[in-house]
Amino acid sequence: ERGRLGGTCVNVGCVPKKLFVYGADVRRQVNDAAKLGWNVPTATHHWPTLRDNVNAEVTRLNGAYARIVESAGAEILRGHARLDGPERVLFRDEAGHERAIRARHVLLATGAHPHRPSFPGAELAWVSDDVFTLERLPRSVVIVGAGYIGLEFATIFAGLGVEVTLLARHDHVLPHFDRAVSEFVAKQLDARGVKVVFEEDVVRIERVGDRLDSHSARGTVFSSEQVLLAVGRRPETRELGLETVGVAMRGAAVAVDAHYRTSVPNVHAVGDLIGHLQLTPVALAEGQALARTLFGGGEPQSIDYRAIPTAVFTTPTVATVGLTEAQARGRGTPLAIFETEFRPMKATVTGSPMRAFMKLVVDRDTDELLGVHVVGDDAGEIVQGFAVVIAMHGKKRDLDRTIGIHPTAAEELVTMRTATRIDPLAA
Ligand code: NDP
Repeated sequence: ERGRLGGTCVNVGCVPKKLFVYGADVRRQVNDAAKLGWNVPTATHHWPTLRDNVNAEVTRLNGAYARIVESAGAEILRGHARLDGPERVLFRDEAGHERAIRARHVLLATGAHPHRPSFPGAELAWVSDDVFTLERLPRSVVIVGAGYIGLEFATIFAGLGVEVTLLARHDHVLPHFDRAVSEFVAKQLDARGVKVVFEEDVVRIERVGDRLDSHSARGTVFSSEQVLLAVGRRPETRELGLETVGVAMRGAAVAVDAHYRTSVPNVHAVGDLIGHLQLTPVALAEGQALARTLFGGGEPQSIDYRAIPTAVFTTPTVATVGLTEAQARGRGTPLAIFETEFRPMKATVTGSPMRAFMKLVVDRDTDELLGVHVVGDDAGEIVQGFAVVIAMHGKKRDLDRTIGIHPTAAEELVTMRTATRIDPLAA
């Protein structure tokens, strides 16, 4: 490992990001407080305190990971490694000394890095890695890209009082999600003070005094103090020696078979590097499956990519498991779609403009629950439970016979009786 232990998730991803989300969301709670009877003096935020407290937790985790690895009996070498043969790795330590290491199996798990497009001025902008250590917050930021990272940082920055403009190059945010969810989230971002602009593809960034001008393909100029590029992450294949040993690629990712074997015998790969789904628990499950395959003495293992739940930690949160309506329509069977949008209970008293949205995608013929989509507070916590139903191939009638917990938002998922749209049953 040449960086800090724990990879993207611990150092420049899930963990510090979610702690920033907690920090930013306090603004909403402060706004609600007066309606709930609290006399709160004008709240101000001190970014260095949040940043330093979050980074201290990351440092604690780095140490915890080192202890876990070492107590399992593994040695950690600090430096850069690259393949030099199917069972040979060349390792260069931080002092520049090189040595060869031989192993029966080599596992590549180098993750991914933020993509920086090649248009002029792209180097003037931040990528997500840069945001975790900022000296100070900007007054305004343009975010290019409307996926997970763009949206999460849009709500973090907005919550911390930064003026945010989010540029989506097409007519939607969150391209991988159900379209009804994307549309609902875009409206919620607006209510959160994020200016979402569609169909603006940035082609050039220029420094003008102490500001940055982002020029779009159709000639619009967006001026801001800083620009954050959030346009996807690329597998970290640089200087890995893949070409030395002839590891086959699938696009920008390392190609693997169903059991995480690359084209070179005894060289395996998991996680963001293989470009399936760039999610921490997926990488973890792939690693565990590979360990069981290599050392468990049983059948080769894989994981079920059908039932992977995921959340976008915007405010409110987006969480989903299973198929979107469009994916389910692609299967060709008739569907029943259940949708509900409502004002969360707390908002009835606080007057918050936040709303919640839930959607179920059901196979009309078999009654199987194919997809669960939630936008609202605690959506990640809610959908984690419903992911079990999807993994078990549960039916809509299983939800119907489940008693709700009242009053919660989640009870809506087991009390939706009337389909919003329903296809005729197959003949
Ligand atoms: P995403 O794939 O989620 O989104 C990328 C966005 O950038 C899309 O809106 C895409 O638009 C847009 N885009 C791509 N290229 C360009 C370009 N040249 N100019 C303008 N816009 C562009 O990527 P992220 O970087 O947000 O995140 C990377 C991955 O990391 C995620 O896919 C996810 O797997 C993981 N992640 C997971 C998180 C979580 O679990 N909560 C949090 C953060 C990241 P278009 O719609 O046109 O394709």
